[in-house]
Amino acid sequence: MSLTLDKNEILTWLRETNPARLEELWRRADETRRQHVGDAVHLRGLVEISNFCARACAYCGLRVANTKLTRYRMDAAEIFAAAQQAVTFGYGTVVLQGGEDYGIRTDWLAEVVRGIKSETPLAVTLSLGERPEKDLAEWRAAGADRYLIRFETSDADLFTKIHPPLGNHKCDRLVILRQLREIGFEVGSGIMVGIPGQTYASVAEDLRLFHELDLDMIGIGPFIPHPATPLGNGGKFFPSGNGEQAPNNELMVYKSVALARLVRPDANIPATSALATINKVNGRELGLRRGANVFMPNLTPLKYRRLYEIYPDKACIAETGDTCHGCLNRRISGLGRHIGSGQGGRKQRQSAAEMPAGQEWGYA
Ligand code: SAH
Repeated sequence: MSLTLDKNEILTWLRETNPARLEELWRRADETRRQHVGDAVHLRGLVEISNFCARACAYCGLRVANTKLTRYRMDAAEIFAAAQQAVTFGYGTVVLQGGEDYGIRTDWLAEVVRGIKSETPLAVTLSLGERPEKDLAEWRAAGADRYLIRFETSDADLFTKIHPPLGNHKCDRLVILRQLREIGFEVGSGIMVGIPGQTYASVAEDLRLFHELDLDMIGIGPFIPHPATPLGNGGKFFPSGNGEQAPNNELMVYKSVALARLVRPDANIPATSALATINKVNGRELGLRRGANVFMPNLTPLKYRRLYEIYPDKACIAETGDTCHGCLNRRISGLGRHIGSGQGGRKQRQSAAEMPAGQEWGYA
């Protein structure tokens, strides 16, 4: 499928402030979502399995230099119990996420994945950072279905500044995304919106890249400053001063989500927890009405949840699985939508030539 919304049009939408015009963007995104992935909202149970991290990311509270943070790593029994909860609540997927923790041994995690796959009907998604290709291949062979790794920003200089390499190991998340696809994973990526130093034009390029990479899943959340990080004082880290700085506000996230839906009509796109954090009242609902079709309820045991502090003041920090499930049910039916059944993976990848007539999209 070709990209019929070009980068200039994307940029114009990102700068749009007229509420009536924006209503049109929301309407198109919602309609595209409905046509391509339907009304089901798929739920992925998020289990934050470790907050150890070898990296020094300037944005993230788990960064190795944050010595104030108490570190934890869940054991296999705790991870199985969380996966079991996902089954109980009828979620089709469990997402095992963590810092880039080399204390998570490759064979150990492979065994955990094999256990979940043999004892539950769940799809298993991993999000464990930039592990070597052989680790990723071993986890795929153990049955893991999907891998999430955001490229965070397509601005290579900015990315290197906020995500310094580990030792002399050059890091290129676009290369990793290609490897993941070759290994046979469904592949997810995404960005933070409003990183200090990130311009509107670079967000437009991020969106173009979502299309080019043909991503199966796209996560977009606002950058939220964490006081224990170099970016904790917000804009002061990289003064932009030229009016080009992309804001890290709700509206900018909704525009990016809506445009992500238009450039990747059949992708799975969550209303992210970071969005729910900056608008705890109805950020999720607005995300789901402006292009998103997935939500990731948190199944991390409460005793660990507070410690997985990638950013402060996270939404739903004290919600048990039960209360969360009830709340989500209400929110989703309030939108006239329903909770998806099954694993909710990407439908068959199609080339443009195979697309049925009338399914082309865009602003022709
Ligand atoms: N270690 C894994 C998982 C990181 S947490 C990895 O690096 O891929 C998942 C996502 O949280 C990150 O990709 C990033 O986009 C987001 N995140 C981290 N710190 C954040 C912050 N301060 N504000 C908003 N999002 C943040």
